[in-house]
Amino acid sequence: MNPNILFVEDEEALRMTVGDLLRKEGYAVDYAADGDDGLQKATSLPFDLIILDVMLPGRHGFVVCEEIRRAGLITPILMLTARSQTEDKVKGLRTGADDYVTKPFNMQELLARVEALLRRTPNNPEVQTGIDHFGSIRIDRRGTSVTREGVAVNLSAREFQLLRYFVDHPGATISRKELLTQVWGYSASAFTRTVDVHVASLRQKLEADPRQPRFILTIPRLGYKFVP
Ligand code: CA
Repeated sequence: MNPNILFVEDEEALRMTVGDLLRKEGYAVDYAADGDDGLQKATSLPFDLIILDVMLPGRHGFVVCEEIRRAGLITPILMLTARSQTEDKVKGLRTGADDYVTKPFNMQELLARVEALLRRTPNNPEVQTGIDHFGSIRIDRRGTSVTREGVAVNLSAREFQLLRYFVDHPGATISRKELLTQVWGYSASAFTRTVDVHVASLRQKLEADPRQPRFILTIPRLGYKFVP
């Protein structure tokens, strides 16, 4: 599936040029024009990567970065530092950023950094080798499409990521906490109910009898297990 990028930048011209470039490369791009909106989107919507400017109206980029990490999100963050001063870079990395690019930057360099960060994320389909079908279910990892008995199944982006994680770990008992970390990007285990809701929804869409699941089993007290 196409990686989802949040781009937090107050300069409109830069938002447009970089946004166009990222979309041309096949990324889905969402925007925020100030720190407050950036933090709000970063903590409420699923993203694979966040590109975060340092000098922003509202919350400063360093503060946004710190608060994203404090919220328990491990989404990779690429910082755009306006100055080439070492202290800015060090501060950015200390607040939880994964990498930085100094303005003005070369577009190809930015793309290379984005690609490198996305390669490091655990649920990148290019570094996973799992099965692509089980029972009557077929999964097209590139195109995010899933079919059951030849009929397209409509999965949300998160359901698809969850399914992908299951099929990459066949036969393993997977805790709700692991699913939250790996699929949702949360490092805190406060939202395990979210996992249950999405698993129930996946079963509704994929299992012949969702109350007697054949593929995604509940392991009492421990979590779930995918059995192809
Ligand atoms: Ca700025």
